Amino acid sequence: KNRTSVLKEYIMGLEIIKGSAQFEYGWSNPEDLSNWLFDNPELIGVSFVGRSNVGKSSIINSMFGRQTARVSKTPGRTREINVFSFQLSLNGKPAEHLPRLYLFDLPGYGHAQVSKEMSKNWETLLGIFFEQTSSNVVMVNLQDARHPDQAADKGFHQFLKKYNFSTFLVFNKIDKLKKQKERAALDKLKPQLFKAYKWVKQIHFASAESKAGLPAIHDALISFFDHRIKLAERKEINESNTP
Ligand code: GDP
Repeated sequence: KNRTSVLKEYIMGLEIIKGSAQFEYGWSNPEDLSNWLFDNPELIGVSFVGRSNVGKSSIINSMFGRQTARVSKTPGRTREINVFSFQLSLNGKPAEHLPRLYLFDLPGYGHAQVSKEMSKNWETLLGIFFEQTSSNVVMVNLQDARHPDQAADKGFHQFLKKYNFSTFLVFNKIDKLKKQKERAALDKLKPQLFKAYKWVKQIHFASAESKAGLPAIHDALISFFDHRIKLAERKEINESNTP
């Protein structure tokens, strides 16, 4: 076996434990969020964000267990940054030696009926979030495969541009694309989006309904987590070696 195949097998053995996600915090006050992020500068995880109704809760539930994003949908929590922690398994057993990871369910953007005041709070809260969150958190931007790169999505990327996050773009609801022509159009858009949005590292097509594309997103997240966990371990060793 060469190094790559050993590594690949190891990564393949890692999985998100469905149902391990625990609700930790619902942040609506920018100052509280800021304090918590300040105290947790190196956490590793994933953050989901997209236009309201894009299927964010459905995707999160499929990947982390059925109940997860239900919390975020309860009245009063829809405008919050909802934080969960979750665990990985290695070859089917809970990977106790690995740190717990974080899942961030961000409030949807582009609400038609959102008031000016509410969108102001979104910007403040999300401004703090992007400013202070560890770059060990990968941003997953969900968009509707039928209506990609809408004004609200463009606005979000202009916002994201200022920060330095690895970002995955996921086109959800591909089951609704009935014609080959529609899929081809989306494929053609890919290079343009990579060019326009330099921080976007991967583009995926998915359906929370049919589950298409979800295993590939899971594996991409696992690779990201695995890499960041190893970097953190190395850093710890280096620090403990420093006299
Ligand atoms: P959120 O507001 O972004 O959290 O979106 P939800 O997960 O609540 O989904 C909004 C609506 O879209 C619901 O009626 C879902 O059943 C539906 N939906 C979500 N994902 C898909 C998908 O991949 N395909 C189809 N056809 N419908 C979906």
